[in-house]
Amino acid sequence: MAGYIDLHLHTNFSDGVATPAELLDMVRQRQLIAFAVADHDNLDGYRAVKGLLTDDDPELIPGVEFSVAHDDLDMHMLAYGFDPDNAELNEAIEKFQENRNRRGEKMVERLNQLGIDLTIEQVQKIAGGAAIGRPHVAQALAAVGAVPSYEASFRTYIGRDKPAYVPKANFVPAETIRIVHRAGGVAVLAHPTIDNTIDHLEMLTGLGLDGVEIYHPSVGKANRDRFKHLAERYRLITTGGSDYHGLEGRYGIVGSEKVPARLLDDLKRRCQSIRNSH
Ligand code: AMP
Ligand code: ZN
Ligand code: FE
Ligand code: FE
Repeated sequence: MAGYIDLHLHTNFSDGVATPAELLDMVRQRQLIAFAVADHDNLDGYRAVKGLLTDDDPELIPGVEFSVAHDDLDMHMLAYGFDPDNAELNEAIEKFQENRNRRGEKMVERLNQLGIDLTIEQVQKIAGGAAIGRPHVAQALAAVGAVPSYEASFRTYIGRDKPAYVPKANFVPAETIRIVHRAGGVAVLAHPTIDNTIDHLEMLTGLGLDGVEIYHPSVGKANRDRFKHLAERYRLITTGGSDYHGLEGRYGIVGSEKVPARLLDDLKRRCQSIRNSH
């Protein structure tokens, strides 16, 4: 299959800015073969895009980006090709979202203790119904004038090791991979240079990880080649996408990563073999 795919896109159902309709417009303009909405801990954006598809549109692959806890790391794990109606997967997603909202409240409490006048309602308004992420808190802090910019929120308050940072109460890798497999999908380590999660590839492979995201704005050419070799060694599939969020300075634009569409064949084969063995 010639052409390109983008398997890592965010909507405003998590911390992206584009509505499902706006995202679909961008996908159409880029003439992609296939795409995946991979919102954080959430399938609502995927469902909304699916509802807008026409027969002429590129193929939409079910996707989601889970935050997974390993030691003190917040690892991102992408899941693809699962049954979006799987009950266990949807229950897990609900738990992930509750965890995020509770954590959002805790971050606001910490900020209040630091003397910042911010309410959870102000953050919720920016999140627009989505589960709370740090980007929403960062935007809220900038909006109320507590910091000069979005970036400054992370530098001063909510970046890791900063005073209002609260870790997420996440699932662990084994649990997440098991849930994804039981829903008939593949689990893929996202953007493996961020926090050097690539160092855990062997461990994750032992737990049943299926793939590694080698095309991502944060992965340079040398690392991409290195990860490709590691994927071959561990018999993993490779995936990629722009991680489009639409916020300034945040990763790529839709279709920016030039991910070859043939990678999707491997992904589908892998899903098939997971389903055959479950
Ligand atoms: P959360 O999943 O709620 O912890 O939010 C994580 C998101 O916050 C990441 O996907 C980044 O987009 C954003 N983020 C984390 N650290 C920074 C930073 N130092 N500067 C800007 N954005 C950041
Ligand atoms: Zn995000
Ligand atoms: Fe991520
Ligand atoms: Fe992402």
